[in-house]
Amino acid sequence: MSHHTNGHSTHPATLDVIAGPMFSNKSLELIGRIRRVQYAKKKTLCFYPETDTRTEHETIGSRSLSKPEPAIACKSARDILQHITPNIAAVGIDEAQFWDMEEPELLGLVCLELVRKHGINVKVAGLDLDASDKPFEVVAFLMAIADRVTKTRAVCVQCGSEYGSRSQRLVKTNARTLVGDADAYEARCTHCFEPH
Ligand code: ZN
Repeated sequence: MSHHTNGHSTHPATLDVIAGPMFSNKSLELIGRIRRVQYAKKKTLCFYPETDTRTEHETIGSRSLSKPEPAIACKSARDILQHITPNIAAVGIDEAQFWDMEEPELLGLVCLELVRKHGINVKVAGLDLDASDKPFEVVAFLMAIADRVTKTRAVCVQCGSEYGSRSQRLVKTNARTLVGDADAYEARCTHCFEPH
């Protein structure tokens, strides 16, 4: 009997999306799900957009893990497909909001191709809202086509609510994707948030 290492012959692949504000541990959630697959001795691959300058070279989760997860930097979601081999069981994609912003459906369409054509379980994490409270189109599209969406929540720095859903920008800029960390943003709930 043939042995499929990626297991998709018995379990149809799915697209899981993890969406939420900064400081809600999206990347940790993503890596946790990828490592669960690795525990079952199945092969995984992770990707991050080359535009994310906070990411330590060729890893994701480097800010919150002693052992960050190896990952491949890509200029476009199209590049992900070039790294796919037949034995991959799961793919993790971080910082979804930064992928192909001028072509916001592309990352979602690539994810669907991985799920449907390659039978790969795809797990994507990203920011759902920008500092003006507008959805990032890439992530809005992903959430619509996903089999499952998990909303991660941060703790509001102002009132202590555990349902912090917004990334409050603390510095003045008109850029939509100001890349920063605790120096430029804090987590807030929907009541304490002030749109930029
Ligand atoms: Zn609050």
